[in-house]
Amino acid sequence: MEAVAGSPLAAASTFLRAHFLPLAATRRTILLVEDEDSITAPLSEALSREGFEPVIAGTAAEALELAASRSPDLVLLDLGLPDGSGLDVCRELRSRSTVPIIMVTARGEETDRIVGLEVGADDYVVKPFSAREVVARIRAVLRRTAAPPPTPLGEVVELGDVRVDRARRSATLAGEQLELSRKEFDLLQLLVDNAGTVVKRERLIDEVWDTNWFGSTKTLDVHVSALRKKLGDDPSTPRYIHTVRGVGFRFAGQDEL
Ligand code: CA
Repeated sequence: MEAVAGSPLAAASTFLRAHFLPLAATRRTILLVEDEDSITAPLSEALSREGFEPVIAGTAAEALELAASRSPDLVLLDLGLPDGSGLDVCRELRSRSTVPIIMVTARGEETDRIVGLEVGADDYVVKPFSAREVVARIRAVLRRTAAPPPTPLGEVVELGDVRVDRARRSATLAGEQLELSRKEFDLLQLLVDNAGTVVKRERLIDEVWDTNWFGSTKTLDVHVSALRKKLGDDPSTPRYIHTVRGVGFRFAGQDEL
């Protein structure tokens, strides 16, 4: 028996397909590693409401097990667990995957935060927090760590006098070869690929240095300043690489050059 087109059944099924299947297909799994029900209960409720699929682990052992079996899209990791430290869980997770990790620390435990970021966490939240705050942070980290969409860019990008050849890994300024280090080239490539828009510091560091941001934020500035010098940019009135204070850098778009 078929659903007759135009019948309430057909309409309902069209509605369901249009509205629920895409949602179900993109529900992202968040692994909550926390032993306190008073925290996990409201949080997992908030996550479900926001379209995520929460999975709860109450111990370090369970966290590693569920991380392997459920391949979560993000891990929210409490540092105080009954059978060990969240830092060890973080280290272990990092050794086997690039899953984004937000760690949860107690107020004032700055050392934990520093160590956590050093062993590979992407961000942290401090207890006590609201479910809303955590959900916002989860979204931000997921956005930041998402694979960049494939850009239909050619092998060569030309902006003003700057010409970057991806395949040859070479760049010229007004026809003159630029002598760039590997990192400087990668940095330039990422900036010109996103010309006209801000590239966040975290993303630059993630993609160019392939490490957590904590140790490297100075390194980024040093490389940007070297790159500017080679492009003949005056840092106070740059033509090419603009600083967006507190956020990142923006390579001038075609229309500005
Ligand atoms: Ca705890």
